[in-house]
Amino acid sequence: MTGKCNRCGECCKVIPILLKGIAPETKEWLMARGAKEDTNQGYLLIPHVCQQLIENAGEITCAIHDTDQYPLACARYHGFGHFYKPEGCGYLKV
Ligand code: SF4
Ligand code: SF4
Repeated sequence: MTGKCNRCGECCKVIPILLKGIAPETKEWLMARGAKEDTNQGYLLIPHVCQQLIENAGEITCAIHDTDQYPLACARYHGFGHFYKPEGCGYLKV
């Protein structure tokens, strides 16, 4: 994998679901409620800002990082071979 995390926090503001795994009626239902498609990366994106995200004077941090409440999905996010990269993500800069 190339690039690196610039701690923009954008991946903490969306729930990405692989488009290929979604039934058409579910996709339609979610899009009527604000979800957006990213066909380039193959995801349906549900806007959702994580309650643990802290934005303070330009500093982005996670309130539960380094605690036993830190989700495995967040800890392994960059380790997934295929993961959603929001606009501005440091892993898009190759
Ligand atoms: S738990 Fe922390 S790293 Fe995971 S989405 Fe929320 S703010 Fe981001
Ligand atoms: S979107 Fe990319 S650069 Fe931004 S915090 Fe998430 S992994 Fe890091």
